[in-house]
Amino acid sequence: MPHKDPLARRTYHRNYMRKYVTDPAKRLQRNRVANERATRIRRWLDSYKLRLGCIDCGYRRHHAALHFDHVKGDKILNVCNAKSIAQAQIEIEKCVVRCANCHAVRTFTLYPCYEPMAKRVKKVKTRKLRRADPVGL
Ligand SMILES: [Zn+2]
Repeated sequence: MPHKDPLARRTYHRNYMRKYVTDPAKRLQRNRVANERATRIRRWLDSYKLRLGCIDCGYRRHHAALHFDHVKGDKILNVCNAKSIAQAQIEIEKCVVRCANCHAVRTFTLYPCYEPMAKRVKKVKTRKLRRADPVGL
């Protein structure tokens, strides 16, 4: 309800907040609905990931080890933070499913400082190892 008078608007808003937001019963009801929706979305995402499995190695034993890896387009949100299945599906269009290991390795190789291990090992052998960097990394 719009109020031109700032004092009337503030009073209205304060009463609204007391009635609908700080009321424990209303808050419990609102949280219950939100939790049910989040659980429904999470279960849908888990089954989706298990159905596809890792695109690289085929892993599909547990949904927690499967990630959505953004491979095209701009990332708008983490898929797990979607507020609806429709919103998740829009974001999933830009993703492939990868297991945590394959995701970490692929993401690491995308960094500009990435240098293949074969080259790196050769460098380590040719230079003296310093005390602060005993492994040569
Ligand atoms: Zn994998």
